Amino acid sequence: MALALLPAALQAQSPVKTRMNQLADGLEKKVVAWRREIHQNPELGNREFQTSAKVAAHLHALGLEVKTNVAKTGVVAILKGGKPGPVVALRADMDGLPVTERVDVPFKSGVTTEYNGQKTGVMHACGHDSHVAILMGVAEVLAAVKNDLKGTVKFIFQPAEEGAPAGEEGGAKLMVKEGVLDNPKVDAIFGLHINSQTEVGTIKYRPGATMAAVDWFSIKVKGKQTHGAAPWSGVDPVVTASQIVMGLQTIVSRNLPITEGAAVVTVGAIHGGIRQNIIPEEVNMIGTIRALNSEMQKTIHRRIPEVATNIAESAGAKADVSIETMYPVTYNDPSLTEQMVPTLEALAGKEKVVITPAQTGAEDFSFFQEKVPGFFYFLGGMPKGKKVEDAAPHHTPDFYIDEGGFVLGIKSLCHLTVDYMDQWKGTAAAVSSKKK
Ligand SMILES: [Zn+2]
Ligand SMILES: [Zn+2]
Repeated sequence: MALALLPAALQAQSPVKTRMNQLADGLEKKVVAWRREIHQNPELGNREFQTSAKVAAHLHALGLEVKTNVAKTGVVAILKGGKPGPVVALRADMDGLPVTERVDVPFKSGVTTEYNGQKTGVMHACGHDSHVAILMGVAEVLAAVKNDLKGTVKFIFQPAEEGAPAGEEGGAKLMVKEGVLDNPKVDAIFGLHINSQTEVGTIKYRPGATMAAVDWFSIKVKGKQTHGAAPWSGVDPVVTASQIVMGLQTIVSRNLPITEGAAVVTVGAIHGGIRQNIIPEEVNMIGTIRALNSEMQKTIHRRIPEVATNIAESAGAKADVSIETMYPVTYNDPSLTEQMVPTLEALAGKEKVVITPAQTGAEDFSFFQEKVPGFFYFLGGMPKGKKVEDAAPHHTPDFYIDEGGFVLGIKSLCHLTVDYMDQWKGTAAAVSSKKK
């Protein structure tokens, strides 16, 4: 009993953790080699054919129950532990990006493609190659200790996190739709993201809202075309669109309770007109919405059409607004987070597990977290001693990951799985209703 009161780091490590750590250390070279091969052969969303074939072959060789072509190119595998218990899902995303690699490494990507009509390189510029290799390593470790596992592990290798090609479904949303969280029903899900600006050895996380919900909007402003010299004889959609852009700025600053979470409304493009002296018929705008709180997201969805249509009406123009809902808030279930952080602290050291500010970027792991309690954290992939400002951000041609962070990634997912199973009380926590 007294043992439970001791800080996790002072407790003797369980024999299964010692064994898993040894296995993970021994796998480092293999995992790095897998990562390099995947890095050199990146594939875009819903086209991860070679990557998923490699994953499936590995999982088959480990003796797992493997399902392929899940949500197009996804792979899902089941590992049954020797003892009864909960179902823990572990997720890795597999897709690369239309970015031309500039990093000079021997395993540099030479893949090119055509994307949205432009010729471009393809690169693992978000580090999903690391995620695939790490989770392949985790599968090997957990398969080796399966007799000691008190539950079932579901490995989810997910396509198209960065979005599916135009007109296609994909990613976590499609996996959930196809029932990836059922049969057997998942009780909790864990996932990590390597980070190019967090030092190797460090883990960052945030309870609750961690990454923003993202939506896209478009506004078509319709006026009446006329001569640029005589604006009074028409309705000017350029001036109206300008007023709408300014009006949209007041949504975050005047309508949202900004102490509850951050939000952003950005107009990213405006198109209209053809010549200096013609007031055009129409102006089109597109933009993005980010919100770390789903109530605030709803308010933005209500206010954009109100602001746009009423400003247009006041000018005698008409505004058509459409909003496309993309990803929900990446929301770490607070009680699951509180339960699992000691596991990470015992593994990496308390001072190496830090709370990070929320991000206005998005992550489709959020679709899993909408259905089951989930915990998503960031794994250091920046070389030790490097300055953050010198480390290239994700999605850029100089993006670089130090493979020295991989073993901690493998161990962290293994330890979370084993501790969650050990602490299992018979029912999963409901997805928290505290989500705002
Ligand atoms: Zn990304
Ligand atoms: Zn990513």
